[in-house]
Amino acid sequence: MSERKVRVRFAPSPTGPLHMGGVRTALYNYLFAKKNNGDFILRVEDTDQNRYVSGAEDYIVKALEWSGLTIDEGPGIGGEFGPYRQSERKESYKEYADQLIKSENAYYAFDTAEDLNSMREMAKKAKMANWQYNSITRNSMKNSLTLSSEEVKRKLDNGEPYTIRIKMPRNEDVRFYDEIRGWVIVNTNNMDDKVIFKGDGMPTYHLANVVDDYKMKISHVIRGEEWLPSAPLHVLLYKYLNWEDVMPKFAHLPLILKPDGNGKLSKRDGDRLGFPVFPLQWKDPSSGEISSGYKENGYFSEAFVNMLAFLGWNPGNAKELYSIEELINDFSLERVGKSGAKFDPEKTKWFNQQHLRNKSNNELAILMQKGISHETDIAYLEGVAELMKERAVFVNELLEDDYFFSIPENFDEKTFRKKWKENSFEIMNNLKSVFEGDNEFSVSTIESNFKNFLEANSLGMGAVLPCFRLILTGKGMGPSAFAIAALLGKKEVLKRFESKTTFFNELYKEKNKVQ
Ligand code: GLU
Repeated sequence: MSERKVRVRFAPSPTGPLHMGGVRTALYNYLFAKKNNGDFILRVEDTDQNRYVSGAEDYIVKALEWSGLTIDEGPGIGGEFGPYRQSERKESYKEYADQLIKSENAYYAFDTAEDLNSMREMAKKAKMANWQYNSITRNSMKNSLTLSSEEVKRKLDNGEPYTIRIKMPRNEDVRFYDEIRGWVIVNTNNMDDKVIFKGDGMPTYHLANVVDDYKMKISHVIRGEEWLPSAPLHVLLYKYLNWEDVMPKFAHLPLILKPDGNGKLSKRDGDRLGFPVFPLQWKDPSSGEISSGYKENGYFSEAFVNMLAFLGWNPGNAKELYSIEELINDFSLERVGKSGAKFDPEKTKWFNQQHLRNKSNNELAILMQKGISHETDIAYLEGVAELMKERAVFVNELLEDDYFFSIPENFDEKTFRKKWKENSFEIMNNLKSVFEGDNEFSVSTIESNFKNFLEANSLGMGAVLPCFRLILTGKGMGPSAFAIAALLGKKEVLKRFESKTTFFNELYKEKNKVQ
């Protein structure tokens, strides 16, 4: 048999914004597909109308777009196997539910919500933990296994509400191979008769998911660990629908844990723990509450994706910085771990910092231009980027030192107090004259002029450099003062000498007045 074409799907339910764990699932699907020349499909699982949240689907699409996970088939894009929203495929599920009834692997259940509640209550009173509709309890419920066929027919003809439940066999081992976990074996005695079709004419997640994976020719189901308990039921559905030979392979991804390792990182952890859990900002349509997003917080999507890739996977060597193309190249399910991966907000910043450093000054300058209101020369911004990039984690930090853009208004009091002396006025004026004669005004001429000046006047670095920096930037520390001077240009530097030397001298005199 020829190798099956790799087709994977990301199948979110539009019940809210996509949490970073969801983006990681999408990412692993995407990497696996692209690595194997396969297709990456987005399928929106919106069969549960009660949990539908407006704007969620749009959010999911935008989040994937921002993360660079290009969809091959999906809602709004199309493809051979559409529609890609389950609500639009409604008609295609009933026939399979009927087929399962016919083959006696499913049955009609007429129990009302009240019937089920009272069963649960009774069980609770009898101290029976977790009542379930299963191979034993179904015998005392209202269903097509306990009622006569005439009664069932009458109820159906009368349009009485019903659900369709899977008929779990008694004491059978369901076995399947998980690409990450190895063999998984679950006994059906531990499984309940899940509803697969609801009274509202919609399938439940389980049936819709299996039918669609079959119809969309999905080769691998890569999803979060929370779906592992559902997998045996899905395996049985493949068997009962006679689709075993095309059953996809399963891979259940490890959980993403809170930074302290205590439990799963949840949507609610978001801003509560001081970092975003969502790729993009989300405004809750009913409460209006805003949750922050990585994008709006200044993260590069490639850093976010790089960080996510490492939450559960590693390449088996020391390399940590990856572009998405490199991830595609190196990714494999074999190197995905079983145990939960702790989310580390500091490491996330580190990834951003590294990706920032890897960008060219020109790329950074273009991004910086977006952060400032006035038009600024790109070559100038490239110069600022060059000087600031070693210190910055985010692009906006490249713009934090405002002395690059205007004469500094504030200054560092401590540096002034410690370093500005009585003779500083004269020294700075003399230094200014030296610079006036420098027509090249490059980093190296500024530096050599400066050093010659120190030597000629028997001055130490510590007496002159801090004052020079104060004049240029108002600060006590920062990137090389020579490089800053060269970038500002001779005219600007002389201007700063003129106004600031006098300013600091006056201040000095004022502070040292004999009382
Ligand atoms: N709709 C499910 C979810 O929201 C999909 C699970 C799966 O991939 O099978 O995660």
